[in-house]
Formats: sequence, C-alpha cells, structure tokens
Amino acid sequence: MIQLYIPLNFLGVIYREIKQSLTDLDRMFTLLESDREVADAPSALPLRIEDHSRGPEVRFENVSFHYESNRQILHEVSFVIPAGTITAVVGRSGAGKSTLARLLFRFYDVQKGQILIDGQDIREVQQASLRQSIGIVPQDTVLFNDTIGYNIAYGRPGATEQEIAAAARAAQMSQFIDHLPEGYATQVGERGLKLSGGEKQRVAIARTLLKQPSMLVFDEATSALDSKTERALQEELTGLARNRTTLIIAHRLSTIVHADQILVMDHGRVVERGTHQELINLDGVYAQMWQMQKRQGDDV
Ligand code: ATP
Repeated sequence: MIQLYIPLNFLGVIYREIKQSLTDLDRMFTLLESDREVADAPSALPLRIEDHSRGPEVRFENVSFHYESNRQILHEVSFVIPAGTITAVVGRSGAGKSTLARLLFRFYDVQKGQILIDGQDIREVQQASLRQSIGIVPQDTVLFNDTIGYNIAYGRPGATEQEIAAAARAAQMSQFIDHLPEGYATQVGERGLKLSGGEKQRVAIARTLLKQPSMLVFDEATSALDSKTERALQEELTGLARNRTTLIIAHRLSTIVHADQILVMDHGRVVERGTHQELINLDGVYAQMWQMQKRQGDDV
C-alpha cells in the first residue's frame, strides 16, 4: 500500500504543477486518467467536429469562474472564435488568460455560463475526445529522457519514421537534427543533449503537427526573442494555425498583429476586442500596451 501510495502522491504533485503551467497536458492525462476533478457525464458522446479542414467554432458564453470561492477570476466572459480563425488574448499578468485555456481543456468546470465547441457544451462530451482535439504548444516544453525522435513522436504514438521526419521538417527542426551525432536517435533531456528554449518549442510544434488537432492553444513564451527568431516563430505559428481554430495566449503584441481577433483582458473581463488596427484606432488599453512595447523594443 505504501509503495503504491508514494508514486501516486508524487504523480499528484506533478499533476498539479503541470496543470498550472499548461505543460505537456497530453502526457499528464495518459498518466493520470484517474486524478480528475471533472468526470465524463454518463451520457457523454465523442466531440463532433463539423469540418476538419477548418476546425470547429469555439464559443465562451457568459463564463464566470473561480478557483477559490472567495476570489472570482472570470466575470461573464463571452467571445466566439469562428472556425479556422486565430484569436489572441492579451492582458497583464493575472488577468485570466491561461485560465481560459485551462477551461477549454476542461481542467475545471465553469461555475456559470458555458463553453461550446461546434455547439456542444464541453461538459457533455467525452473528455478523451475533447483533449484529442486540442493541441497545446506550451511556454516551456518538457522533454523526456529519450531520443529526439521519441520526443517528437509523442504527438502521435505509432507514427512512422517518415511522418516524424515530415513533422520535424515542417517545424524547421530537420537541419538541426541532421547535424546531431546520432540524428533522430540522439538522446535529449536532462541526461542527454540540452535544447534551447526555441528548440524545445519546435519539438512541441512538431508534436502538435503529428497530432493534427483541430484546435490549437499556443502559449507564447514570455522571454524576449531576437527579431530573427521571432520572425521564424511567427512563420511556424502561421503554418501550425492553418486549418484549425487557434487561441494564442500572447505576451508580445508583435506576434499577434495579424490575428483575426484580439481580446484584451483585465481583471477577468474582456475590456476590448477587435483587430490590431481597430484596437489601435480605439486608443485605449491595447493602444497603450502597443506604445509601451514599441518603446521597449526601440530601447533594445
Ligand atoms: P500570466 O500572464 O502571468 O500567465 P494570466 O493572465 O494567464 O497570467 P491566469 O494564470 O489565468 O493569469 O490566472 C488568473 C488568476 O487566477 C491569477 O490571479 C492567479 O493567481 C489565479 N490562479 C491561477 N491558478 C490558480 C489556482 N490553481 N488556484 C487559485 N488561484 C489561481
């Protein structure tokens, strides 16, 4: 009993940490199918996506949410991400941006309102199918102590070598891998080759490409990037978002200038929404953030 208890407890700790940081959600759920705060409804059906070539419509309707009852985090949040489009969420730290992604993945149930994917309340679909449909590129990708090939293939167990190589190419990793001493068989992770933040994010992109989810959550890293890396990342993101419905949790406004819709959050409310140009013209919170980031950029 004790033997069983220790690893489960340990996994519980990992679970909480991962849940908080949106890191490697898929792995966590495979490991810990049992540790759930939310359960499938007995009548739950698999999520139906009407058009896989575009991704589904995602709709938050009057969503209110708290982690602890004495502190409301989201207040009546409503927005629609039309099928196949990109919505970016910005706002200062603690505004509730990552909480939106956690709710979409159904880590927690909302206390008021509903989240609909192609018209289906996510509380009424099988969680496995929901999570299978969402790919997450987290801020900080955890690599397993295994080969780089395994780490990419993690997106789709059973993927062939050709499929893995194609995903690596699309994530612009293949040159890097070809120069490694043992190519795809090179050990990475704590006990192997260490990858930079950007390289790890590419692994996450390759994984997601293999998984082919119809929805994508991109949790942008807060760390500053040089303009060349930033441009490359921008291109990869555009490729990744093609044919799917995308939510970007953004920290650098330059990444999201071309988003179809930008939501500005403040203290758990959407205070502004529109395209980059519309929000600049509005001359409100977003325009101020833009001016500030431009000034900071100019200083570098
Ligand atoms: P950042 O840009 O810093 O990542 P964010 O806008 O993504 O911030 P969230 O992570 O959504 O913010 O957090 C919103 C609020 O909810 C914060 O005040 C945070 O402290 C609180 N919060 C987040 N997770 C939990 C939790 N598990 N339990 C209690 N409060 C939490």
